[in-house]
Order: sequence, then C-alpha cells, then structure tokens
Amino acid sequence: MKLCEICGVRAARYVCQECGRSICERCIKPYSWLCLECHKRILAPGEEAEEILPTPFMKMFFLGFILMFAGVIILLLASLLSGLKISLGGIIMIGPIPIIFGAGENLVLLIILGVVLTIICLIIFLVLLKHGIRLSR
Ligand SMILES: [Zn+2]
Ligand SMILES: [Zn+2]
Repeated sequence: MKLCEICGVRAARYVCQECGRSICERCIKPYSWLCLECHKRILAPGEEAEEILPTPFMKMFFLGFILMFAGVIILLLASLLSGLKISLGGIIMIGPIPIIFGAGENLVLLIILGVVLTIICLIIFLVLLKHGIRLSR
C-alpha cells in the first residue's frame, strides 16, 4: 500500500493532477483535484485575482454616465421651464404619461420629451441601484 506523499501517514488513494504525487483524501483539494501544495501554489493567486476584478469600477462609471445624462436633461429642462412656468405644473401632474397641451408650441413638446427622458434615466438608475445591492450581497 502506497502512503500519501504529502503527509506520509494515510494511504494514498488519489493522484495530484499537477505534480502527479500520490495523495490521501485529506491532502487533496476537492473540485480542483490538486494536492495541498499545488493548490496553494496555483490556485491561491487566482482566487486573489478574482477579488480585484474591475466590476465595481465599471458599475461606477456606468452610474456616473447615467447621472450625467440625467443632469444634462434636467439643466436643459430648467432653462426651458424658466420661460414656461405655467406649463410646469401641468407637466409635473401628468407625470409619466405626457399629454400634449397648448398645441403648436414646440417648447412644450421639448419639455415633455425631456421629462420622459429624465424618468427613463431615473428608472435605469433605480434598476442599477437594486442590481448593485444584489451583487454586493
Ligand atoms: Zn496525506
Ligand atoms: Zn501536487
């Protein structure tokens, strides 16, 4: 009976997929089929690398882009609404279902478009926020 080449105590039942040494069930790493020494040498740096994937950075960049986009629209809206304060109340009450009133006024159409885009941006932002919370758990 061959003894484990790592601990030298228990009977060797497995063979390391990396170094080919005969190893016992206590000295083999399940899933990787490597002896403890090869596992430490090969897999440990890989596990560390997984933790520093650029996912959070990509998420932050994407969120930042959406916030910037929403901000530009809000600024555009604010400049348009400054001349149309009466219409402002109506648009806020209408909310996500814009009804065109004051027909023929291009500014109203632009404001409605801006409001719809802002709402879409907010929805995307909220979805991303939820998704981000789920990912971090
Ligand atoms: Zn062993
Ligand atoms: Zn090995």
